[in-house]
Amino acid sequence: MFYTSTRDKQQQLTASQAILQGIAQDGGLFVPNELPKMTFDWQQLSQQSYQQIAELILAKFLTDYTAEEIAYCVKSAYDDKFDTEEIAPIKQVGSQYILELFHGNTIAFKDMALSILPYLMTVAAKKNNLTEKIVILTATSGDTGKAAMAGFADVDNTQIIVFYPKDGVSQIQERQMITQKGNNTHVVAIKGNFDDAQTMVKNLFADQELATLLKSRGYQFSSANSINIGRLVPQIVYYVYTYAQLIKQQAIQIGDKINITVPTGNFGNILAAHYAKQIGVPINKLICASNDNNVLVDFFNKGIYDKQRPFVVTSSPSMDILVSSNLERLVYQLAQEDTQITAHLMQQLADEGHYHISQEMHAALQDYYADFATEAQTAQEIADQLTTHHYLMDPHTAVAANVAKKYQQQTQDVTPMVIVSTASPYKFPRSVVEAVETVNDEHDFELIETIQRLSQVPVPAAVTSIINAEILHHTVVEVEDMKQSILNILS
Ligand SMILES: *Cc1c(COP(=O)(O)O)cnc(C)c1O
Repeated sequence: MFYTSTRDKQQQLTASQAILQGIAQDGGLFVPNELPKMTFDWQQLSQQSYQQIAELILAKFLTDYTAEEIAYCVKSAYDDKFDTEEIAPIKQVGSQYILELFHGNTIAFKDMALSILPYLMTVAAKKNNLTEKIVILTATSGDTGKAAMAGFADVDNTQIIVFYPKDGVSQIQERQMITQKGNNTHVVAIKGNFDDAQTMVKNLFADQELATLLKSRGYQFSSANSINIGRLVPQIVYYVYTYAQLIKQQAIQIGDKINITVPTGNFGNILAAHYAKQIGVPINKLICASNDNNVLVDFFNKGIYDKQRPFVVTSSPSMDILVSSNLERLVYQLAQEDTQITAHLMQQLADEGHYHISQEMHAALQDYYADFATEAQTAQEIADQLTTHHYLMDPHTAVAANVAKKYQQQTQDVTPMVIVSTASPYKFPRSVVEAVETVNDEHDFELIETIQRLSQVPVPAAVTSIINAEILHHTVVEVEDMKQSILNILS
């Protein structure tokens, strides 16, 4: 198997090369030239560990890695950094199943892939005899930055630079980032929103002058954002694991379909579910849940992608995104892998701020359902879940739960529903507590105890470890100064 750009099929890379490069030179995203054909023995898989299933899936997608290399990466990533042996536990809450993806280092789902990406990348560097040091350049809406730094801190021959929107992340998220240790970690706040940061990072990746300059200093860029195939592939694993675990829990019989609702921002998590379905996991509907930044809802319902709308800061900041990068990979499939159509639509988005897909392309979206939850509905959902099921959700998960409910009410579909939970309520204590009680002007840290009382879940180490940690990063820059700050860091 090899990887090609969504905008140019002439570019063909091995998996390890695609992981090192992150994004294609033409601005497109790498996609597998064909998806692996798999026949799953669910009886057997239901007895397997997360790590075993990870090895199985990674081997199918990362075909130039040896079995030993994959085993090493999996073993190094999915160890006691996670606070449960299950890695991604599936809990029955009422009649639904909650897939908890927040048991890693930074208590959000980004850990699922960013725990393994540094290993995939360092192995890739060795395989390809890379002489330059890798510079991970990342724009974050709050969760990716910390999870990427946790993964890459003190990894030999790497530097990591994270840009985050100064006023666009929770206090806990900011504290997690600015206390990050490691002599290769760099954190820069920008005066702008996540889209500003992400667009500038994409431009800097495509900046050949910058690339040449950095090469002369011994550096090469790569990406830890979900545009990197090294993030996407490890995310397929937990959908296979979920199905196997639901068999084990006797929640479903082999062959039964399941629905999956994913709280969506950059379209990486749900795209992994889409790939899981295509390689043979019995998934019925993929339900795309947005917050007030509901650009994807319009895309699925009307076939129009229009980023020209107000950017809303919500209680689910990791989904405050108007340009969902990974959607390009779906658009490419909808266009029957036509790179010209894909490139044209993406160019239109960049130039005019919107694009239309054809009726044929829109008709191919039958597997999807999309809706959004307002801020009031999200808060109400947190309160309802707590009252009815004694389960405390973070706002991102609550967006998904609310949209799943809307889907079921509208369609009367009784297919078992998996709701993907992408963050611990401890990561967004203010919004969570505000949904159920009155909050005055306490700092997020003072709300931790309330979360513990409400959830009956012990405070995770990810939170206790940052409360008194020293603040190590102080830089704040304008968006247009991001390039200069990179040059300063790598001087
Ligand atoms: C990143 C993130 C999301 C959105 O995931 P995408 O892959 O970008 O769609 C949702 N919830 C949380 C908590 C996240 O960190």
